[in-house]
Amino acid sequence: MMKDSYGRTIDYMRISITDRCNLRCCYCMPEGARKEPPSQILTFEEILAVVICGAGLGIRHIRLTGGEPLVRKGCAQLVRMLKSVPGIETVTLTTNGILLKENLTALLDAGIDGINVSLDTRDRARYRQITGVDGLETVESAIRAACKCRIPVKVNAVSIDFDCCGFGRGDFEEGELQNVSRQFLLPDWAAVAELARELPVDVRFIEMMPIGYGRQYQTISHEQLLEEMKARYPGLEPDSRRHGAGPAVYYRAPGFQGSLGLISAIHGKFCGDCSRVRLTAEGFLKTCLCYPDGADLRAVLRGPESPILRANGHFFWPFAACPGEEGLQRRLREAMEKAILEKPGAHCFEDPRAMREQRNMIDIGG
Ligand code: SAM
Ligand code: SF4
Repeated sequence: MMKDSYGRTIDYMRISITDRCNLRCCYCMPEGARKEPPSQILTFEEILAVVICGAGLGIRHIRLTGGEPLVRKGCAQLVRMLKSVPGIETVTLTTNGILLKENLTALLDAGIDGINVSLDTRDRARYRQITGVDGLETVESAIRAACKCRIPVKVNAVSIDFDCCGFGRGDFEEGELQNVSRQFLLPDWAAVAELARELPVDVRFIEMMPIGYGRQYQTISHEQLLEEMKARYPGLEPDSRRHGAGPAVYYRAPGFQGSLGLISAIHGKFCGDCSRVRLTAEGFLKTCLCYPDGADLRAVLRGPESPILRANGHFFWPFAACPGEEGLQRRLREAMEKAILEKPGAHCFEDPRAMREQRNMIDIGG
């Protein structure tokens, strides 16, 4: 079991497997990705090498993310590879859901343990406005399909304060005004929350974090959101059952199949219980969202002592040298241990001047 210098057990690794995405969310990557050349992105074997090392250090839970993980070919194959690593207990996925339906069978066959789907609104026009794509029906239909499978499904919605963000009525086209008036009757958050009544899904609201383009938007305070939830759902009760490894605080509304969760990074700082590290698509082990600190594991993986082969700018693992090779694992372990020991004690979202991380969410891996 690996502890950092604050005594926190680190057992959860989020791995970004691509910096590309098929959506253009306004708070994440409205202009598209910076797009590293493919050779700069870790290969599946390199990710496997990091996970073997992480498992030796006490990592038990892996979440694949991105960019959009399902735009990377072979995502299910990677799930299978990581599931086979001794010590790894769960491999889960966070996706925007656009490509989920067609990948569901392969992911289940590979042993995926849970899927989180991001959905900020159930209003078609607003979904298009946020993501740049007319994809609401596709995502909702993928959520329904996933709910029929034997794995936990969660919906994640970023709590954007639309009223403060210039998403006004004037932004909608003529034919869409009907949707807009429906929206005034049922606030966006409540329409998303209703999914937990209709389906056996946990719906979690995530405070918008001031990272990259996220700085241009305001979050709804979750203190305020909880008050609104209590008013809309009389009988809402705290739900103390364990729902996974994350920092969400859950509530149960009468008649709902799933729970409602609040992930309040800003107004409910949970750094004291943080158990996670992040691996960027380029192989940087990042220990806190707010700071660029961590370890360049790609430099270790591709260093002069590494068993990896290079040809025409591509990297290959020789058949005889598996990602578990002893020398490589030792070097990775030294780098990872040092980075984890130096993991910052807390984020500093409340004081933007102290934030040293300048990259966008897409480059960090959400
Ligand atoms: N493309 C996948 C998706 O959208 O689920 C995975 C990557 S995305 C970066 C992971 C999550 O981060 C999404 O739920 C997204 O809404 C969230 N996210 C992105 N930028 C954010 C920000 N500034 N604050 C809070 N959440 C953010
Ligand atoms: Fe893509 Fe996810 Fe970022 Fe949206 S939040 S642009 S879906 S990576």
